[in-house]
Amino acid sequence: MNEMLLLKYGEIALKGLNKKSFEDVLIKNIKRRLRYLGGFEYTRAQSTLYIKPKEDADIDEAVDKLKKVFGVTKICRAIVCTKDFSDIAKNAVEYLKDTLLRSKTFKVEAKRADKNFCMTSPELQKELGAKILEAYGHLSVNVHEPQVTVTVEIREENAFVHALKIDGAGGIPIGTSGRALLLLSGGIDSPVAGYMMAKRGVIVDAIHFEAPPYTSERARMKVEKLAKIMSGYTGAVNFHCVPFTKIQEKIKEHCPEELFTVIMRRIMMEIAQQIADSEGASCLVTGESIGQVASQTMYAMVCTDAVCTIPVFRPLIGMDKTEIVEISRKIGTYDTSIEPYEDCCTVFTPRHPKTRPQLLDVQRAQAQFDFKPLIDQAVEETRAYIIN
Ligand code: ATP
Ligand code: MG
Repeated sequence: MNEMLLLKYGEIALKGLNKKSFEDVLIKNIKRRLRYLGGFEYTRAQSTLYIKPKEDADIDEAVDKLKKVFGVTKICRAIVCTKDFSDIAKNAVEYLKDTLLRSKTFKVEAKRADKNFCMTSPELQKELGAKILEAYGHLSVNVHEPQVTVTVEIREENAFVHALKIDGAGGIPIGTSGRALLLLSGGIDSPVAGYMMAKRGVIVDAIHFEAPPYTSERARMKVEKLAKIMSGYTGAVNFHCVPFTKIQEKIKEHCPEELFTVIMRRIMMEIAQQIADSEGASCLVTGESIGQVASQTMYAMVCTDAVCTIPVFRPLIGMDKTEIVEISRKIGTYDTSIEPYEDCCTVFTPRHPKTRPQLLDVQRAQAQFDFKPLIDQAVEETRAYIIN
């Protein structure tokens, strides 16, 4: 069967003079995502990208991958026909069989890029509608609210017929909004935070803090698995794994228990910032949501951000857990996130964390020990690798 894909790119079509460069990035991202699935030919016209698979290409897998490419709003699978009405009608009836059998009402919409085609759009709509009604007697035409819209496009070389529009991932193309470093734990929230930034065009690198032997190899593998699932949307993830044990032990030894978490978070931020700097990332991202747990109060975040010289984005800040869970299920991270492995934060959770820490108290408590050499050492010993 001679099928091809039509991709609509919605929001980026609105970007005025930037449109061309947005399109270029999108097409580059798409090519990269499809590169192992065989050969494809690409043509663009009127905010639509036409992707024609060569013989060896796997179109089902291509659709699966394309569903995760930000910047694409709709994906249509279309049948390619010659520009001959009887060929168009025959193909439409056969190709759309399953869809039309499942529906009660339809309409035909014709688009003619080739204005020299022998039929006008209204004629084409009427004639093709009649052929479809002839083949599927149970159908009726409804031009206002049809269950199915059969679209026929007449272009320079061929004609296409399609009906099903698959939802794309929306958003804007990755690589059009800069680079961020995501603090990625094994929980539900941070992978969702990474997904949300990527959806707005941001390249997402990840940093993970581990505390062996308190945290296990399996726990780290779980986080790597989350990064891998995320990479289906974000593209390859530059992953940084920071050895955090010594620092946590020193916090425990020298600082008041009720401030463990906030001090730990401040040190995490300091390390993340150095890594971001060396990677060219201009902000940090966390999965925090205000008031979700004792360490995520506004007061705690104020104390955390006091050490940051670059912005910290928290895309989940105003979301409920149920809303976050819904997205994590949709993007496929949920089942991995709930696997029961320990995180370095939970290993050292204080019994009664202070929900309203004051910056001065925190600074004073943290000054009980000189963490600087250990921070430098942790940065030095951070392992970096690519996950995709
Ligand atoms: P998550 O579901 O993302 O783990 P959480 O609700 O468990 O979030 P916390 O454990 O308080 O919340 O962590 C808050 C944020 O701090 C996380 O969303 C993540 O961005 C960051 N974070 C926590 N632990 C780690 C870690 N071990 N490595 C990297 N980042 C972490
Ligand atoms: Mg967590």
